[in-house]
Amino acid sequence: MTGASQGRVHIVGLGPGAPEWITPEAAQALDEASDIIGYFPYVARIALKSGQTAHASDNRVEIDRARQALQLAASGRRVAVVSGGDPGVFAMAAAVFEAVAHGEPAWRDLDIQVMPGISAMQAAAAKLGAPLGHDFCAISLSDNLKPWDVVAKRLRLAAEADFVIALYNPASKARPHHIFQAFDILRDVKDGATLVVFARAVGRPDEAITVTTLREADPAQVDMSTLVLIGSSETRSIERTHGPAFVYTPRSYGRSET
Ligand code: SAH
Repeated sequence: MTGASQGRVHIVGLGPGAPEWITPEAAQALDEASDIIGYFPYVARIALKSGQTAHASDNRVEIDRARQALQLAASGRRVAVVSGGDPGVFAMAAAVFEAVAHGEPAWRDLDIQVMPGISAMQAAAAKLGAPLGHDFCAISLSDNLKPWDVVAKRLRLAAEADFVIALYNPASKARPHHIFQAFDILRDVKDGATLVVFARAVGRPDEAITVTTLREADPAQVDMSTLVLIGSSETRSIERTHGPAFVYTPRSYGRSET
């Protein structure tokens, strides 16, 4: 057996933050890894065992990180590439497959597997009730990898199509105005009474969830640790005397009163 055939890349989802929201499969992949590669805050969440090497990097170099993982695996290392949430949602899995598609032919025959995680929208939805109970979509507001025109078009059409919309990467220090532009588009299309949720740091000690309306929502409240959910016309809340309101989207469309 050659070293290359033992090498592998496991692309591992760490979930939104809480350790109980990481699958046993993902935990095992981390446990068995010789090398752990990822954006430094995610790598910092992992308790390294002796003999494990961490390669923490800055966020902007996903493709380099993916190539490094594949090179290490080709030399026989057992690599875990880590992402927060699910690695397939605005995260490292796509970067690894892009690197495979454009890289060394031998990389195609490596043992490459994706270990899913709980994505931020699922974690936020679970805390709220069932806001993703009917058709929904997810849009990243980051324009690092696509022009803002594309983001704006998708937002407008998703709003017109009355999807529940999960907004990832809603604000960055470099582009704080994006979330304001997004809300301008949404307010142009949707009713002011549409439910809006700001779910910040879900599953972490500083978790904060705000349920409001499109009319009243203050986009200035949103930061990079926030997942924004925009309701469809059917999304409703259930107020409670004790505890925060539940938010849900009924499974049947246009018949929510029955
Ligand atoms: N792969 C990740 C998403 C990476 S993009 C996933 O599946 O969740 C990064 C964005 O995800 C953040 O800007 C934020 O919008 C969202 N996010 C990640 N973790 C979060 C958390 N714990 N709470 C709320 N939003 C989170």
